[in-house]
Amino acid sequence: MTWNPRDMQIAPRLASALRPGPVKPRHALLIQPFYPKDPRTSFGKHVLAPSLALTSIAAATPSDWTIAYWDENLLQGPPPHDPFPQVVGITVHLTLADRAYALARWYRERGAKVILGGLHVTACLEEAAVHADALAIGEGVQLWRRMLRDVETGTLRPIYRGDFRRPYRNEPPPRRDMLPKGCFLTTASLIATRGCHNRCGFCYMATHDVKMPYQMRDVEQVVDEFRATAEPYAVFTDNNLGSRPDYLRELCRALRPLEKIWSAAVSIDVTDDPSLVREMALAGCTGVFVGFESLNGENIVDAGKKSPAPEDYARRVRVFHDNGIQVNASFVFGFDHDRPGVFEKTVAWIEENRLTCSTFHILTPYPGTPLFRRLEAEGRLLHKDWRLYNTSHVVFRPKHMTPEQLTDGYAWCYRRLFSHRSIWHRRPVDFKAVAPYLAMSYLYKRSNRLWRFLIRRQLTAAVWRPLVEQSRRRHLRFRKQLAADTSAAPRQGGSVVTAGV
Ligand code: SF4
Repeated sequence: MTWNPRDMQIAPRLASALRPGPVKPRHALLIQPFYPKDPRTSFGKHVLAPSLALTSIAAATPSDWTIAYWDENLLQGPPPHDPFPQVVGITVHLTLADRAYALARWYRERGAKVILGGLHVTACLEEAAVHADALAIGEGVQLWRRMLRDVETGTLRPIYRGDFRRPYRNEPPPRRDMLPKGCFLTTASLIATRGCHNRCGFCYMATHDVKMPYQMRDVEQVVDEFRATAEPYAVFTDNNLGSRPDYLRELCRALRPLEKIWSAAVSIDVTDDPSLVREMALAGCTGVFVGFESLNGENIVDAGKKSPAPEDYARRVRVFHDNGIQVNASFVFGFDHDRPGVFEKTVAWIEENRLTCSTFHILTPYPGTPLFRRLEAEGRLLHKDWRLYNTSHVVFRPKHMTPEQLTDGYAWCYRRLFSHRSIWHRRPVDFKAVAPYLAMSYLYKRSNRLWRFLIRRQLTAAVWRPLVEQSRRRHLRFRKQLAADTSAAPRQGGSVVTAGV
């Protein structure tokens, strides 16, 4: 049976009898609420790099306010109450909405003003409104300062609306200095672009009222931020760093002199131009997260995703591998053309193409998306318990299998992927890269007890940084060879830093 510790499943207790001290004027507390972790996946993925949501809000705070940050997922207990904040800002996503509302209730009952923001607030405004003094709909960074000023003057309104059309470059850099040291593999979460050239029907980007044109920050801004972190490794949190190939190329050229490494989410069409993939490698890209979604082209068409045909995926994966870039492939199960054989077929493809890691999801209709509306209209939603809308539970009736078959197939895929046999089968072709690959794979995929220990003791960075630094050095050597090599000979295994990431 899968090891499943209580503190990874249940949020820390909020003391109902606690009476805090007086409200400290002009003090704000920003909270990332707890969400239960799927024990079938690696606990490590939750501390890879921090979300930018709260550190970006913190950066927009007026200088005469003090501000604190609390991420409940770092397993350090419930959020602080001393000093007691005048304002509490909570980011709300679908699966953690219940916890966000519980926190909101607790702080409001004791005298704080609670502001809720995040995608779920935009998608389910009426539901969220009863739990907050004010809602930030849309882009919160541009609203935060105004909301705090309105708190000061006692004129806080119930709803504030921001849009995603303001120039992105005007936003201040996130306050990374607020992050607890040692808790993340890297604190260098970066963002260069916003939006995506696709609008897949199942993606939260397709939520009604979310109109997000693709925007790009100046490459110099991004590079300066990366340089300033002093971290050897960054994670780009962009939805799709590759939506504009010309911009990505320019960014890569500017990143190259830093001699650091990074990973990012891109869509597979970035391989349309192999020279761009080479530029990514030369700029330090060691891994990409790619949403393949399905090996069945009919599913891709139904989802409205503009994507190359699945028959061409393997060739495109080789373009990444040939440039030393590892691929973390994301697959979704439960589309209308999926049948019970989909699980074995998908894992066999992953193994055949030696993908270092893969991420599986059960198709989940997020409220406000076209998929949600369709399944609701067809009467196929099983319930609206948002806590289970987390891509590891079946919340709708699949077309060609039972919910149990879908649940079991999803779990089987992770068991198989994390098995000794599968890890060995997917080792890099380059024998020199095999040992670091195995080390990283076992640490990442089969060490949840260790991860919990590291997270609780705030030792994640201390343990992982030396491995990351080794990866960076190895990648620098690889890059040199890549720059000198103009042949098309395959060369896999430049780095392993993104094993499982
Ligand atoms: S390509 Fe990815 S990020 Fe873009 S809309 Fe589709 S699922 Fe969302």
